[in-house]
Order: sequence, then C-alpha cells, then structure tokens
Amino acid sequence: MATVQELQASDVEILNPYEIVQSQIENAAAILGLKRDIVEILKKPKRVLCVSFPVKMDDGTVRVFEGFRSQHNDAIGPTKGGIRFHPDVTLDEVKALSMWMTFKCGVVSLPYGGGKGGVICDPHTLSKGEIERISRGFMEAIADIVGPDKDIPAPDVYTNPQIMGWMMDTFSRIKGSFNPGVITGKPLIVGGSKGRNEATARGCVFTIMEAIKDAGKSLQNATVAIQGFGNAGRIAADLLAAEGCKIVAVSDSTGGLYNPDGLELDTVKKLKDTTGILSYDSRYHLQRPEELLELDVDILIPAALENVITRKNAHKVKARIVAEAANGPTTPEADKILHQNGVLVIPDILANAGGVTVSYFEWVQNLMNYYWSEAEVNQKLCDVMVQSYWAVRSLAQEYKCDFRTAAYMISLKRLAEAMKARGWVNE
Ligand code: GLU
Repeated sequence: MATVQELQASDVEILNPYEIVQSQIENAAAILGLKRDIVEILKKPKRVLCVSFPVKMDDGTVRVFEGFRSQHNDAIGPTKGGIRFHPDVTLDEVKALSMWMTFKCGVVSLPYGGGKGGVICDPHTLSKGEIERISRGFMEAIADIVGPDKDIPAPDVYTNPQIMGWMMDTFSRIKGSFNPGVITGKPLIVGGSKGRNEATARGCVFTIMEAIKDAGKSLQNATVAIQGFGNAGRIAADLLAAEGCKIVAVSDSTGGLYNPDGLELDTVKKLKDTTGILSYDSRYHLQRPEELLELDVDILIPAALENVITRKNAHKVKARIVAEAANGPTTPEADKILHQNGVLVIPDILANAGGVTVSYFEWVQNLMNYYWSEAEVNQKLCDVMVQSYWAVRSLAQEYKCDFRTAAYMISLKRLAEAMKARGWVNE
C-alpha cells in the first residue's frame, strides 16, 4: 500500500475510497509510530457479507438485488453505521465507509466500531412498496450478523426513518421479540430519538461554530455554499441561516443555485419538494453544479458523496473553512493542497459525527427503555461535538498537522489501546 506521500508523487490520483482510507490510516499511524500488527488489523474489515435477494416488483416481475454489509472493527464495541441505497454503490465503497465509521466513532469517543451497508438500487425509480420490500429483503439477508450487541445499522444516503422502521420490524419478527436497539434513525413512535433527524447537520454546525470562534470571527453574514440538499445539507442550511449566515449556493445531482446576496431558503425547499430539481431561475442557475465548490464563500459544506474535492479543483477552493458533512468528499491529494493553502478542513469523521452520536443516544434510550427530551439530546450532542473539536484542534496544533490526521490519531490511539487490552496484539 502506498503512503500518502507516494500517492501524491504519482501521476494517477487514487479515487478508490478503500485505498484512500488505507492511506489515511498509514499516514496517521506513521506519525504515532504505531506497531505494524495494529495497522494491518485496521486496514481491512473484519467481516464482509455480500447478499443477493429477490424482490417482487409492482409490475409482477421479480428482480434480484445485491447488497453488502461490512463490519470493520469491533475492538471497542459493536459495529455501527448506516445503510445506503444507491445505484453506484460498490463493495469497496461500503468497506471504506465502514472503516471511516470506526474512526468517526473513535473521534467522538463512542463505544462502537464501524460498520456500513449498501444496496445497489435507485430509490428514485422505485415505488414506496418496492422500497419497502427491498428494505425488508435486505434486513432478512443480513439478520444473522446484525443485532443490538453485534452491529447496528442506521440511515445513510437515500435511506430514511421509514426504511429503518421497516427493517426494525423485519428483524423483530425474525427474532420473535421487539428489538428497537437493532437499528437507529427510526421513527419516534417505534423508539427513535428526538433530534436524530437533524443530528448530522446540527453536529456539523457545532464544529463550524467552534472553528469560527477559534479564528476570532463571527457567523453573522458569513457566506456558505452547500453541495447536497438531502438530510444533512438541507438542515445545515436552515441551522446556519438561523445563526445569521447567508446561504449563497446549494446544489444537488439535479442542478445548482447561486445568489451572492443569499438564497431564499423557503423557496428553494419548496422547489425541491415540488419539482424534485434545483434549477428554476436562470439568474441564479449554476452552469455546472461542481462550480459551487469553487465559489468565493467563507464556508463550504460538501454534503453529498465521495471524491468531489480532488487535486483537479482543490487549488480553486476559495472557502476558508470546508466542513465535510459528507463521508470522504476530499481525496488525500486535495487535502494536502487545501492544507498548504491554509484552508481549514473539518474532516468528515469529526464534522459529520453528530449523526452517529445521536444514534448512540437512541440506542442507549432503547436499551434503557427511557426517553429524553429534545433539549437534553441537543445539549449532550453539543458537549460531545465541542469537546471533540477541541481535542482534534489541540492535537493538530501539537503535531503541526491537518485536522484529519489529528482526528485519525485520536481514534488510532483508542483502538490500539483496546486491542492491547483484549490481547489481540502484544504490548
Ligand atoms: N450514516 C451516518 C454516518 O455516516 C450515520 C451512521 C449511524 O448513525 O450509525 O455517519
């Protein structure tokens, strides 16, 4: 496996997320001087399950869908992480995402390792009934390896609380008992947590607020561009607008809007809800949605998919803060360019850890069968995010490295300690 330095020296930019996360581990492990056996254990998922399952479609035909569940490392606790439904999802991507989850849980000190799942399908072309049958079919296919004390899925790209509700129901029927703790991000009525839906965005906003304070600035009139208008991007827009920011650009896979004076968020949301697309007004229309990443703004939030900031466009990023609400939006080469240009990247494993943090709260509430108020959840989330931000920030200062490397170092130290304590590796 090439080190980040070697990758940067080569002509080809590595875009496979599995190789990227491996190079990120190598990079931070080298600074910490971690022993080889620890690094080798962490460079591969512990268990990967590939499944295919038949689903009856509305037109009477049967289609076979493929899906994956990857469980990276359970040294600290059961594995945890979302399930995405996406036409382009691959096994390597799911493996990488499960590894990012391990490091994410480590940064915010949750008693979990990382997991991730994916089903190859395009929910935009499926009916509600078909999505329900896919959700139940996938849960049935992975039921043996998930459970409240084994591996706990959650929502991710193009999945939502309703899908979690169906999956919890299928698992509970298989086990013959009510098992809300098998999955998080559920509807409130069946054991969901207050505040979970907003948690990824809210956690991201808490880290941005700390970064802004740290830079001696204020969020009043700060300009923001957001790529991705799903759960994270859309709610982050609302929360930042409430803090006084000007949301000047948003984009998604259908198009993009830009108004340097600030977008009317209610109109944008209505547009998306009624037409499903984000381009309605030629004055505010971005020619290419990717242009959004290069806009002259204070804060850039990639909130969609992997590999959007690469060495091809990293030098064009003008934002001073990049807060990664998405998983894996920046390649290692782009990271280096951004760091050299003085752009503060709040890495995914910190910036978007609010989702899994409130998932943890949901699981705890399920296990206790005792539920908290939204104010309590949000306060606990705030404490975790603020404390984690400053832990990463001070380590980055101490080692004069970027925040991503520092965040990995925090997780790696915890994992190394746990694996030693369990006797997986020698002292
Ligand atoms: N899919 C989210 C993530 O990537 C949430 C995972 C969870 O809540 O378990 O962090």
